[in-house]
Amino acid sequence: MHDLLIRGATVVDGTGAPARVADLAVNGERIAALGADLGPARREIDATGLLVTPGFVDVHTHYDGQALWDPYLTPSSWHGVTTTVFGNCGVGFAPVRPGSAPYLIELMEGVEDIPGSVLAEGVSFEWESFPEYLDALAATPKAMDFGAQVPHAALRFYVMGDRGADHAQAPTADEIVRMGDLLEEALHAGALGLSTSRTIKHRAKDGRPTPSLTAREPELLGLAAAMRRAGRGVIEVNSDFAPGEFEALRAAAEVSGRPLSVLLLQVDDAPERWRETRAHIHAARAAGLAVTGQVGCRPIGLLMGLETTRHPFSTHPEWLALSALTPAQRASRLLGDAEIRRKLIEQRPDDAQTRWMSAMLPRMYAFDAAFDYEPAPADSVAARAAAQRSNPWALALSGLLAENGKGLLLQTFENYSAGSLDVVREMLLDEATIMGLGDGGAHVGTICDSSSPTFLLAHWARDRKRGERLPLEFLVRKQTRDSALAWGLTDRGVLAPGNRADINVIDFARLRLLPPQVAYDLPTGGRRLIQRAQGYRHTFVAGSETLCDDKPTGELPGRLLR
Ligand SMILES: [Zn+2]
Repeated sequence: MHDLLIRGATVVDGTGAPARVADLAVNGERIAALGADLGPARREIDATGLLVTPGFVDVHTHYDGQALWDPYLTPSSWHGVTTTVFGNCGVGFAPVRPGSAPYLIELMEGVEDIPGSVLAEGVSFEWESFPEYLDALAATPKAMDFGAQVPHAALRFYVMGDRGADHAQAPTADEIVRMGDLLEEALHAGALGLSTSRTIKHRAKDGRPTPSLTAREPELLGLAAAMRRAGRGVIEVNSDFAPGEFEALRAAAEVSGRPLSVLLLQVDDAPERWRETRAHIHAARAAGLAVTGQVGCRPIGLLMGLETTRHPFSTHPEWLALSALTPAQRASRLLGDAEIRRKLIEQRPDDAQTRWMSAMLPRMYAFDAAFDYEPAPADSVAARAAAQRSNPWALALSGLLAENGKGLLLQTFENYSAGSLDVVREMLLDEATIMGLGDGGAHVGTICDSSSPTFLLAHWARDRKRGERLPLEFLVRKQTRDSALAWGLTDRGVLAPGNRADINVIDFARLRLLPPQVAYDLPTGGRRLIQRAQGYRHTFVAGSETLCDDKPTGELPGRLLR
């Protein structure tokens, strides 16, 4: 007698093999069998016409703090994710010296746009070492399995003190040894890797660049040597890929003998640079190194609404004059006062943000009912205004004021230089890439791309109109087996007997994203953007049902990966 039988499903097993109709049996935490006539079970699900996939594996999130207050790790758990890895991009909360928490919070606030007040309230900092942080994470069960990586910035600050926050400072030889020893200790305790940031986009709240920005070769290689000694872990890097950059990272990968995973995305300043990085990745793989590029499946989208971190009028004096009001009061003032609206539209403050917003009008889109994350450039705020011979700022304002002031604009920030997702399709098709730009838990007032697992399937296999689609089996593999293997997780990502029973049962015909929205559900009532989905009939983690008809069941079978 099996514990669970999912009967008559269209099985897409995570290997990329063609979909087939089969039954799936689960005993305890494991998949027992896949096939026909598998015998009786205590619970049966008739999955005729439904899709069954492995649970999704999202290796790029930032739930370092959220994991301590939110066992559901939303939005990810609303999107079929059953395993997540955080501690990415070099920022996180351990190791930490007594009294140093405020710096790590300000760094996280600056780099990942998570409100400092939320972190100060929600993160207890009852640890000092990384192993102690892992123990704190492991103390409460979650809705999915989760793993943490050692953030380079925290390691640097812990060992070098204030000098560690200054990227121009180099650690002494002794300090490099100390960092390596701490990293090795953390890896033995169960850290899944080391993450670092080398992008000028990442700045602390005070504007200083992220500490690891220009860490030089002796430091990188010292950390790499520690990874070799530990014999485990992945090196994750977010880099701008200036000249010589990949070579330095490749050297670290060679010294460590460990996998290297770098972010791969298209930036408007250099829309072809990602191809150079990809060529480096391929060359490294040809030389036997395990290197992957983490890609997204849609434009990295900055969401702008009256309640988000930024919007086209957020530095306008008329807007700032309303800052004492609640969000609802502000919206109703704007809706009811034509004179304020006129000033917002006609008076342009002379500041950097307004100039930037002005430049971005051709990349700004109203998030209306038809919005599908692959908008035609002719539908941008600038283009629509030109076609209607109207003021683009008026159009932007009416987008924000839609739905009683809850309207959103999306600015296609990255991966959209040519105004289509063909470039993303090319990235997805590349054998050296895995899914990894969702950033769940981060940028909570500006971005909500942690819903990407749902978008990947719905848009690319079914809904895409402005170009070729991709096979469903390929897309499932991309965010199951491929992402699991990149982190050495061999017990999941494929529906096969003996593997963990991490399973999604999806009504694929109905699978869709709901519009993003602003919620005030962080500690202290902090604000974040969330996005839900429809079509997840069941999600199972280690054989326990965590989601039923798109709603959490309350089961928390997820454990710390060590
Ligand atoms: Zn990140």
